Amino acid sequence: MKNSKFAVIGLGRFGSAIARKLSERGAEVLAIDKDETKVDAIKEDVAYAITLDSTDPRNLDSQDISEMDAVVVAIGTNFQDLILTTFALMELDVERIIVRAQDPVQKRILEKIGVKEILSLEDEVSNNVAEQLLNPSVLMSIPLPDDYEIIELKAPRIICNRTLSDIGLREKYFINLITLMRKGQPDGELHILGVPEPTTTIFENDIIVIFGKSKDIDRFLEINE
Ligand code: ATP
Repeated sequence: MKNSKFAVIGLGRFGSAIARKLSERGAEVLAIDKDETKVDAIKEDVAYAITLDSTDPRNLDSQDISEMDAVVVAIGTNFQDLILTTFALMELDVERIIVRAQDPVQKRILEKIGVKEILSLEDEVSNNVAEQLLNPSVLMSIPLPDDYEIIELKAPRIICNRTLSDIGLREKYFINLITLMRKGQPDGELHILGVPEPTTTIFENDIIVIFGKSKDIDRFLEINE
């Protein structure tokens, strides 16, 4: 993350959280909002914090926005300003533009104007909530293209106290174990156990992270309910 330069436009809860995270990880962050109080609230945490209206391309150009590695547009409810800002960034040839959509209609409009990276928190949250209602052992799920997904779940009892080669996740269920997490001593926090080996044993209370086709993962979850 060293030497990376990012701008975040719109410092609501979402935008300010992204700006702070990037800054904590060593990136040079330019945080922008038209509301001075939002800018003041973040100025100690990022390299630069500027009050400006991002719908005017001249304002963005004055901050050398096209030099950024990526610009995140996190303007929330004001969709007109979000579109105008995105359009201005495109006109200024910003290399990577990441835009937050609030709902499916906004997402489709952004796709139509050619935005390649769209963050749809609502999609991710609703997907996770649905997944957890259907299967309470699922802690997190990331849908991937071509009907693949990554799922984090509590290790089902039936595979506990057995080695990976004995369980045969790949052979029987066509899924891969990416890694597993276990509560460690003395801090009691979950720790990643690195890249699993065929001899790795899964214990009760472990969290497993698996990858595979959604239908194979569903089958694995059903069998192990
Ligand atoms: P969150 O869910 O992240 O808290 P929100 O839904 O409350 O966001 P808004 O408050 O509508 O979202 O927008 C986020 C920020 O974007 C606000 O701080 C707002 O001042 C800023 N913003 C809106 N329009 C512009 C603009 N044209 N230029 C710069 N900042 C803008």
